Amino acid sequence: MAKNETFKTNNEFSEGSDSRKEKSTVGSTTDNKTFISALKSENTKKKGETEFGALSKLSREKLIEQARKFSKQYFIGDGEKFRLKTYDTHASFDLEPEDKPLVKDALQLGVQALSALQDIMYAQDKWSLLVIFQAMDAAGKDGAIKHVMSGINPQGCQVSSFKAPSNEDLDHDYLWRCQKHLPERGRIGIFNRSYYEEVLVVRVHEKILESQKLDKKLITKDIWDERFKDIRNFEKYLHRNGTIVIKFFLNLSKEEQKKRFIERIDNPDKNWKFSATDVNERAYWDDYMNAYEDMIRNTSTEDSPWYVIPADNKSYARIAIASAIIHTLDQLDFEYPKVSSEKIEELKVIKAALLAE
Ligand code: ATP
Ligand code: MG
Repeated sequence: MAKNETFKTNNEFSEGSDSRKEKSTVGSTTDNKTFISALKSENTKKKGETEFGALSKLSREKLIEQARKFSKQYFIGDGEKFRLKTYDTHASFDLEPEDKPLVKDALQLGVQALSALQDIMYAQDKWSLLVIFQAMDAAGKDGAIKHVMSGINPQGCQVSSFKAPSNEDLDHDYLWRCQKHLPERGRIGIFNRSYYEEVLVVRVHEKILESQKLDKKLITKDIWDERFKDIRNFEKYLHRNGTIVIKFFLNLSKEEQKKRFIERIDNPDKNWKFSATDVNERAYWDDYMNAYEDMIRNTSTEDSPWYVIPADNKSYARIAIASAIIHTLDQLDFEYPKVSSEKIEELKVIKAALLAE
């Protein structure tokens, strides 16, 4: 695929390390432009109205189809040949200034589509969706979760954040603390970090392994491959039991992270978000990127894919995330539970009695 004109490649693993720079092979101008122009034609039909519920069935199907095409460029269903450097950290819709508001509309529409699909999922009470976010600090995990999930019925969605494990957590296997937070049927569970930290931060700082109360015999030279295998099996097990797992890596450039850290220092309202530890982790940038790449290579499957989302542009990333979730939910072929003909008769009788009051 030709290099996408609208993508400014900015995917060095570390500033100035030209050896790892390569032209992007991901993304297509057509996919991105069609997505926004489909929305534009809807928008001109109903000026100022971008409600998913207000769209005709055909328009909804078109939107879902666009979400599928748009998110497909970031989908990794088979990690075998995955190379992180071929994925951009920066992407944009390449819009004319007057079309800029369409980005906001696109996200709003995406959020409403998500909410409509989630409503059916909740009524059906069969499937659950686990959405995992992993990224370097300041990549925008919190903002993406907040915006993309903003239209969802809070009863149908639960967010769990995983920081360094507690003493109680360390008394168990590493999946234990995450298993406790898996979504119930009919719900979306969001993991802000997850068991994947066990092959990321723990791999970058191997000393952490020593605090995991594991016998020396269990810390083999193959420990990372063993963990990948355990995670793949775990996700397969979840899939077989009705929990769909999708994973997002928010792919941020080192340069953009620096910009966001400086912003957190300069803006008093953002000071609380700044931690000196985050800056220390920057020193291990290349190690983290290698760990991410190996993780994606080893844990991407058709059933539980990774999406590698360009994260330097926050609005773009959020639309890409919403699109991938819409596509995933749509694949489940949801429909509201059908009630029996006896039940319909019963409802008619009750309605007549209510009207006669
Ligand atoms: P934010 O910085 O936006 O508040 P965050 O997810 O970075 O969100 P922090 O409290 O800064 O939250 O960081 C959590 C830290 O916990 C991360 O550095 C992460 O690598 C670490 N962590 C998570 N899981 C594990 C684990 N299993 N073992 C060791 N460290 C972990
Ligand atoms: Mg942090």
